[in-house]
Amino acid sequence: MNQDELFKKVISHAKEYGFVFPSSEIYDGLSAVYDYGQNGVELKKNIRDYWWKSMVQMHENIVGLDAAIFMHPKTWDASGHTSAFNDPLIDNKDSKKRYRADVLVEDYAEKLRLKAAKEIEKAAKRFGETFDAKLYAETNPRVKNYLDEAEESVQRLARSLNAEDLDDVKALIEEKGIVCPLSGSKNWTEVRQFNLMFSTQMGSTAEGASKLYLRPETAQGIFVNFLNVQKTGRMKIPFGIAQTGKAFRNEIVARQFIFRMREFEQMEMQFFVRPGEELKWYEYWKEKRLAWHKSLGIDESYYRFHDHEKLAHYANAASDIEFNFPFGFKELEGIHSRTDFDLKAHEEHSGKKLQFFDPDLGESYIPYVVETSIGLDRMFLALFSSSYREEILEDGSERIVLKLPMPLAPVKAAILPLVKKDGLPEISREILSELQLEYSVQYDEKDAIGKRYRRHDAIGTPFCITVDFQTKEDGTVTLRNRDTMQQERIKREDLASELAKHLNMSNLLKK
Ligand code: ATP
Repeated sequence: MNQDELFKKVISHAKEYGFVFPSSEIYDGLSAVYDYGQNGVELKKNIRDYWWKSMVQMHENIVGLDAAIFMHPKTWDASGHTSAFNDPLIDNKDSKKRYRADVLVEDYAEKLRLKAAKEIEKAAKRFGETFDAKLYAETNPRVKNYLDEAEESVQRLARSLNAEDLDDVKALIEEKGIVCPLSGSKNWTEVRQFNLMFSTQMGSTAEGASKLYLRPETAQGIFVNFLNVQKTGRMKIPFGIAQTGKAFRNEIVARQFIFRMREFEQMEMQFFVRPGEELKWYEYWKEKRLAWHKSLGIDESYYRFHDHEKLAHYANAASDIEFNFPFGFKELEGIHSRTDFDLKAHEEHSGKKLQFFDPDLGESYIPYVVETSIGLDRMFLALFSSSYREEILEDGSERIVLKLPMPLAPVKAAILPLVKKDGLPEISREILSELQLEYSVQYDEKDAIGKRYRRHDAIGTPFCITVDFQTKEDGTVTLRNRDTMQQERIKREDLASELAKHLNMSNLLKK
C-alpha cells in the first residue's frame, strides 16, 4: 500500500468507526473543521490525559491552568499577533488555487532531498558494505547538487521572509520553476501577507461592541497569568505552567484532514527560567519531549528533529519534532526558546510588572521562557495513521487492526458472551460492571464471535474477554490479545490484575 492509499484509508476508517467526522456533515461539511465521534473523543481524551500526567503530575515544579479562549484584545498587540501573525500566500492564476508560498518552497526542497536519498540508497546497494553515505553525499556531483540546491532554497526563503521581502519570495518560486501541483503552470500572483486570526465582537450594540480575537495559541493565557500562578502557588524558578485547549487559525491552505484545522487543540507548557539558562533548558526539553513520544512505542524512524532556519520574532532557538505522517515528515510539536519577549511585551502594554524576585540571587528579573507546544489533533493523527494495519491471517482472511498504545485505546476491553442465552449474558454483564469502575469497557453480544473480534480490532480494543460454557463450570474466561491474537484461559478474579499490566497509564509514565 503506498502512502497516498494509506492516507485515504486512514480518513475513511476514522469516519467509518466513529473517530472523526467532517463538521456539520449534513450541510456538506465546513472546510478544515472536524468533529470527534464516540471512539475519537476517548482516544483524544486519553492522549490529553497522558500528556497532562507526564507534564503536570510527574513534575513537582509544573502546574496546570485553564485560561479563557477570549482575551483582552491588547494581548494580541503585545504578543505581536495583530501585526505579525501572517502567512505569505500566493495564488495560481490558472487553477485559482491558493498556496502558502513558504510551503511551496519547502516542498520543493524536500523533493530534492528525497531525490538525493534515492540516489544514495541505489549507490549503497551497488557498493555494499564499504559504502560511506556521508562521503558519497559530499562528493557525488548529482547528489551534492540536489542537497546544495535544497539548502540554498530554504536559506534564501528564510532570508527573504526575515527581511519581509515578498518580491524575492516570488522571484525564488519563479527561478526554481516551481509549478502549481494542480494546473502544472507557473502563472503566479504576487505574494501577500495574510493575518491568520479570527475576529468577533463582544457586546450587544454595534457602537458599544469591541473587537475580540479567538486565541490563535494557548500560550498567551499562560503569560498573562504568570504572576497569579507564581504568587498563589509560591512557585520558584525554574517552574512551568501547562495548559490544553482550543486555538483558532484561519489557515490559508487546509487540505490534510486533521493535520491542519481552523479550530484545533493545543497542549502547551511554558517553562520559566533564569535569563542565560534558557538554552540549557531548551536542550533539556527537546530531549524530554522526544522521550515522551518514544515511550508510546512507535518506531523511532517516524521521528526527527528539524531545527529552524527562520526564527520567529520571539525566539532565540527553535526546533520541531517532525513525524512521518502518510504525506511525509511534518511538524508535530514545537520546542521554542521564547526569550523574555512575551513577558516583557505584556509588561510594556499593561504597565504591570511581570517579574520574579529570585531569593538565591537577591534580584528581580523577567524570566526567560522555553515552550513545548504540541497539537493534540496532530498527535491523534500520528498515532492513528501509524497504528493502522491491514493483516493477512493464517487462514487467508484479512483483518484491519489499530495497534494503538494499549493505555490510550478508546475501549480497553470488550466482554463477549459466546451466545446470547444460557446465563452467559448475565455473567458477562457482571464482569462489565466490575471492570467499568476502572476502564472504559463494552458489552457486545451481536454477531458471531469472529466478527466481534474484527470489530474490536478495527477500533484498537486491546482485549476481548469471552464468556463461554466453561465459565459457568470453573469461573474462567478467555482473554484474547489484540496484537498477538493469542487466547488464554484465566480466572475471572485474575482479570483486573492481568489487564492492569497492559492498560494502566503508569506503564507508560514509568518509561
Ligand atoms: P505549521 O508550520 O504546521 O503551520 P506552526 O509552526 O504554525 O505549524 P505552532 O505555532 O508552533 O505551529 O503551534 C504549535 C503546534 O500546534 C504545532 O506543532 C501543531 O502540532 C499545532 N498546530 C498548529 N497549527 C495547527 C493547525 N492549523 N491544525 C492543527 N494543529 C496545529
